[in-house]
Order: sequence, then C-alpha cells, then structure tokens
Amino acid sequence: MSAQPTTQNKSAGTLRLQAALQLLAQSGHSLPTDAPQGSLLWLQAVIDGLCMLSSRDALTGLSNRRQFELAIAREIDRVARAGEPALVLMADIDRFKQVNDTYGHAAGDEVIKAVAQALLDCVRPMDTVARFGGEEFAIILPNCPPAFGHTVAERIRMKVQRRPVSVAPGVEVAVTISLGGAFAPQWVRSSATLWIERADQQLYRAKAEGRNRACLEQPTMLQVSAEEKGLLFGTSQFQDIE
Ligand code: GH3
Ligand code: MG
Ligand code: MG
Repeated sequence: MSAQPTTQNKSAGTLRLQAALQLLAQSGHSLPTDAPQGSLLWLQAVIDGLCMLSSRDALTGLSNRRQFELAIAREIDRVARAGEPALVLMADIDRFKQVNDTYGHAAGDEVIKAVAQALLDCVRPMDTVARFGGEEFAIILPNCPPAFGHTVAERIRMKVQRRPVSVAPGVEVAVTISLGGAFAPQWVRSSATLWIERADQQLYRAKAEGRNRACLEQPTMLQVSAEEKGLLFGTSQFQDIE
C-alpha cells in the first residue's frame, strides 16, 4: 500500500497519517483500492481500521481489555433495565508457566492462540470473548439462563481439553483450562469490578479444587416489584428510550 501523498490527498497529507498507515499495513489491514487516497471513503476505511486495531488483542484477535470494559458496561445496563440473565466467565490456562518453561515462549503463544480459537468456537456471535490478561480470558454471555451457564462452561472446558496444541513439528501439548462464572444480579445496576470479582472467586475455587473444571456461583433470583423496576428506570440514563 502506498502512503505517498497524491494531488487528491494533499489536505489529508497534513493530517500526519503516516504512522497510522504503517500500523494498518503492519497488521495486514488493507484499504480499499477503488477509493482515492484522501477521499472520505478512504479516510473512513483508515478510521475503521484504527478502531479495529485499538479494540483487538494483537496475538489472538480477540477483544482486548478496552473493548471488554465497554461490552461489560453495556451488559450491566441491559441487565439492570431488562432483567435479562447474563453470565461472565473467567478462564485461565492451567499450569501454563510449565508450557513456557518446557517448550519456550513462542510455543506458549501458540497455546494462547489455540485456546482463544477454542473459546470462539463455543460461543454465539452475540457473546464477547476477550483476552483479559496474559493467559486469562473473559467471556460475556448476554441472555444466558442460569440452567445453561454450566452447560456452556463445560462445553468450553471440554473443547480445550480435546484439542492438543501443536507447538513444533511432531510436538503436541495437552492443554486444560479452569473456569469461574458469575451471573449479573438482575434488576440491579452492578459494577464491572464487582461482577468480575465474583467470577474470579469461582475461578480460584476451580483452581483450588484441582483445575480443569468449571465452578459457577449460584445465581440469586431477586423478587423485584413493578414499582421497584419503575424506580430503577426512573433513575436510568436510558429513561427516554423506555
Ligand atoms: P495456574 O494453573 O495456577 O494458572 O498456573 P500457571 O502456571 O498457568 O499460572 P502463572 O500465573 O504462574 O503463569 C502464567 C504465565 O503466563 C506467566 C507468564 O510468563 C506467562 N505469560 C503471560 N502472558 C504471556 C504471553 O503473552 N505469552 C506467553 N508465551 N506467556 C505469557
Ligand atoms: Mg494459569
Ligand atoms: Mg493466570
């Protein structure tokens, strides 16, 4: 991709786009060839590419931490307004340090990528799968009834267990993950920190109980009257669209 200013994009050239174009080229993001450089269509494609880069984790292509924070804030609003059940799962690769120590950091990266793909393969398009930290992932499952929570967590756990990762020619590593899950309190405006903390506590429990397992907090069903719901909506920033 050429980033040389043309007659058409002289004004765009003054926008100092070089660094952005280099980032996009390096990440393999292609810009439309049929839109002249500097045109609105071309600039929009640059903006879209930068938004994509700033919301994705470079190693796995999953949502990054920033995107996850946005998604969980949106979900908290939805749960408070609509009372829909929603689940957050935290997943952590078991004994991952051993993979790095035995096979090297590049092999560890391959394992992280493979686990990311396995997680994506198990969820619906409406779910958010994010890389939360090094070898830790977070999944937001909107509209997930409590009875389904354990099924989906187990499906994810087994998917990873059944798929050894090839880290070098002829070398396969068996990988397992532990998962912890918590439902958002319905009709209550929780905070992302508190919700994640509760899922994390379940993840610690899964590790303590032997790893390669999923532990979910029992959801509490609140009885909320219509009047109380009205009070909640009355203070909601979204009251105009109720
Ligand atoms: P546990 O079963 O208790 O989770 O043990 P663990 O070994 O997985 O946990 P620990 O937190 O001790 O190890 C995590 C390791 O992940 C340490 C860190 O060096 C490694 N790590 C973090 N990010 C990356 C990464 O991007 N690539 C690779 N290859 N390793 C990473
Ligand atoms: Mg780990
Ligand atoms: Mg960890």
